[in-house]
Amino acid sequence: MSKTDHNSVYEIAIVGKAVWNLHSLSNEGTVGNVTEPRTLTLANKTKTDGVSGEMLKHMHVEALWSLEGNKSNFCSACRELRPERANASKEVTTKKASKDAMKTALQCELCDIHGFLVERPQLARDSLIQFGWAVALPGFGRDIHTHARHAVVPIEEQERKEKGNWGTDKCSIPRCESNPNERDLLKIKGKWYCEDHLPTAQMLYYRPTRSGNYGVVSLFQAWRIGLNDLTMRYEPQINRTERYKLALKAYQAMFLRPDGAMTATRLPHVENFQGTIIVSKANHPVPILSPLRDNYQEEMRAIRDAINKTEGEAGPIELLEFASMKEFAEKMQHLMEKTTPFSVSFGET
Ligand SMILES: [Zn+2]
Ligand SMILES: [Zn+2]
Repeated sequence: MSKTDHNSVYEIAIVGKAVWNLHSLSNEGTVGNVTEPRTLTLANKTKTDGVSGEMLKHMHVEALWSLEGNKSNFCSACRELRPERANASKEVTTKKASKDAMKTALQCELCDIHGFLVERPQLARDSLIQFGWAVALPGFGRDIHTHARHAVVPIEEQERKEKGNWGTDKCSIPRCESNPNERDLLKIKGKWYCEDHLPTAQMLYYRPTRSGNYGVVSLFQAWRIGLNDLTMRYEPQINRTERYKLALKAYQAMFLRPDGAMTATRLPHVENFQGTIIVSKANHPVPILSPLRDNYQEEMRAIRDAINKTEGEAGPIELLEFASMKEFAEKMQHLMEKTTPFSVSFGET
């Protein structure tokens, strides 16, 4: 292990419990008019509720994108928040050699931090930011709400007569005054209707609403910012500290206001977030203990003491505990202001 520098950060893990009420942040999918919530099975066989790591990663991506004031720090695909990232960015895919393509892709903050898979030239970068499922601790709640909406009856055997071509047919609604030269005429269940009089029906939708205390785990490999995986050299001209701060700020933003599925009508009632930020200040992988375990914070302290044993305070592992959203925001702010990303030394070229 190289010497611990108390301002430089190798890896950060965030483990904690987030209380999210009445949300529908991620779902299994919609079958007909029923939206299924996520169900997970734990090692002890209990079934529980969860929010997928994909959704959490997506929240981080969106927060990072929003927080960057200068969108020209993104590639052409990321500027438009396209999920393919480098694979949809011409400046990368038009390169012949993988080495050049990687170099170009790393110029984009989002591609560097969140990774990508490029088909041609073949190129892959693992995400520096990783999320596990957010898992509901025992005692979560789930309700299915019925939601009625008036919708146009589905047009089955679609037969349409365009405006001006109604011929001898007319709208089935008595005294219809729609102008046959301005409206199409459609056949529904054997009867003709003009566009103004399409029959509607009440449709029922089933929407889940969930509440729970969710265990969250995430890892940020700060040492890999700007590191070209092909050459094992940091790309010059990249402001690694700026990118590091942006990634931390995105974490801060996403837990202060989670964004996900169905927020238009199920914006979560965020109640609390408490946990531990685990910081590794030397090239030592950060230990992660799940908040599913009752005494995880106490255990984390014991793990820190075991790892730091010989060096004590100067040891690589530091814990920043937070009991509320306010404290989480403060601890993240502290990291943004006082720390920089660790650089691994690869020697002379
Ligand atoms: Zn990009
Ligand atoms: Zn009509």
